Formats: sequence, C-alpha cells, structure tokens
Amino acid sequence: MAHPKRRQSKTRTRKRRTHDKATAPALTRCPNCGAWHVYHTVCGECGYYRGQIAINIED
Ligand SMILES: [Zn+2]
Repeated sequence: MAHPKRRQSKTRTRKRRTHDKATAPALTRCPNCGAWHVYHTVCGECGYYRGQIAINIED
C-alpha cells in the first residue's frame, strides 16, 4: 500500500485543522406558528413548510 515517507509535523496538522470549525445551524421563525426551526426544513411545531402542511404532527 502507498505509505507516507515522513510523519506530518504537529504544526502542519494543526494548520490544516484551523479550517475544521463547526458552523451554527441557520435558524428562522416559522411564518405559520412563529416557532424557531432550522432553515429549509419542516417546522417541528406545526409541520408547515413553504406555506403548506408537509407533515402531520400528532399529539
Ligand atoms: Zn410552525
């Protein structure tokens, strides 16, 4: 198998990992019920997406 000739330095590894950063999810208000939900996803409170019912919330 292909194998690296030299071990990568700690500095080089850490420099690469400076770009590994988690981003906060884009939240928005539901236009139907006003609850916070993740952008481009169905609202967890009322089941609406793009102005119409996408899933039925049983309770
Ligand atoms: Zn909603």
